[in-house]
Amino acid sequence: MAKPKTYEGGCLCGHIRYRASGEPEFPHLCSCTQCRRWSGAPTVAWVEFPLVTFQWVPAGRTPQLFRSSERTERGHCPVCGSALCAIDDGYPNISIVVGSLDRPNLIVPDVRHSYRSAKPRWWHAEARRPPAR
Ligand SMILES: [Zn+2]
Ligand SMILES: [Zn+2]
Repeated sequence: MAKPKTYEGGCLCGHIRYRASGEPEFPHLCSCTQCRRWSGAPTVAWVEFPLVTFQWVPAGRTPQLFRSSERTERGHCPVCGSALCAIDDGYPNISIVVGSLDRPNLIVPDVRHSYRSAKPRWWHAEARRPPAR
């Protein structure tokens, strides 16, 4: 069996780092008002990883959490403020912003775009798998 791929990433200043070795799920874009205000970007690209195979490195150094809605917390670096993750209560996956990955090309958001109609009208966001080389 092939060794599972590892995905690593972190914040702008390097204080918060993570490693995910599970299968990435639900790579998508979101343009909801919460994502926009939280990130400062018109659209956020997300990907989910199973919590059981996800770890913050070094262990114990975790993002600061902010409860942004009844059942969701969003995590950012307490030092530099980078937006990093979202965790839904009772959900087995953690959502990671694709922009925080060391190699963002490894995750290609698909056509799913949550709250597409909420994006600024001047913004055209489209995720497309690059042609195979
Ligand atoms: Zn940081
Ligand atoms: Zn959103």
